[in-house]
Amino acid sequence: MKRADIDRLFASLAEVIPAPKTELEYTNTFTLLVSVVLSAQATDRSVNEATPALFALADTPQAMVALGEEGVRDKIKTIGLFNSKARNVIALSQLLLDRHGGEVPRDREALQALPGVGRKTASVVLNEAFGEPTIAVDTHVFRVANRTGLAPGKTPHEVEAKLERVVPDRWKRGAHHWLILHGRYTCLARKPRCFACVIADICPFRPKTPDPEAEAALAAETKAKGRRRLPPPTRKASPRAPRA
Ligand code: SF4
Repeated sequence: MKRADIDRLFASLAEVIPAPKTELEYTNTFTLLVSVVLSAQATDRSVNEATPALFALADTPQAMVALGEEGVRDKIKTIGLFNSKARNVIALSQLLLDRHGGEVPRDREALQALPGVGRKTASVVLNEAFGEPTIAVDTHVFRVANRTGLAPGKTPHEVEAKLERVVPDRWKRGAHHWLILHGRYTCLARKPRCFACVIADICPFRPKTPDPEAEAALAAETKAKGRRRLPPPTRKASPRAPRA
C-alpha cells in the first residue's frame, strides 16, 4: 500500500473511531493485565461480564493471591479455559509480588516472563497502560492488514513486523485499536461490511459486499417495474362458427 493511502486509511479510521482504546473494562494496570490474560481465545464481552465481580474482591496482586485459585476460578468460570487461566492469574500475581514489588513492569521481557502472558498480551498492556507504540496482532488485525494490503503476511508475527515498518509514527499508538475495532465491527471475517466501510475506495479486497438493504430495495424496484412493463392481457378471439 502506498504511503499516501496508509495515511488515508488511518485518517479515515480516526474520524469514525476518535478515541481508540480497548473494550476490556479495567480499573488499574494490574486489572488490565488480568483482563487481557483472560481474553485469550474468549470474547471481550465474556470477560467484561465476569471481571467486575472478580475485581470487586481483588484488584491488586496481593488481594488476588489471597483470593486463591479456587476463588478466581469461581468468578471466571463463564470464560473459556477458566481452569488454566485461574492458575495463571494466581501465578502471575505471585510473580509480580516476588519480582516487581507488586507493580506491572513496563518491560516486554519481564511481562512475557509472567505465566499466561505472550507477545500479544504484553503488546496490549504496553500500549494501553504505558502508551508504547506497540501493535498487537490478533485475528482481527491480521485479517484487516491482509485484506487491505496494509501489511500482508502469512503469520501474525510477519504481519506485526510489517506493521511496525510501514505504519507512520503518528498513527502507531492507536493503530492496534483502529485495526481491531475496524475488524470487529466492519471488516467482519465472513461477510465484511464493505458497503459501510470508510476505506472501501483504497481497499483492494474483491469482491466488495453490497449493501443488503440497497440490494433488497433494488430487487423490489426491479420487480415492480417488471410488473408495470407486462403487456395488457389480450383477448383471445373466439372461434367463429363456420357459415352454413
Ligand atoms: S472494503 Fe471491505 S474488505 Fe476492505 S477493509 Fe473495508 S470492509 Fe474490509
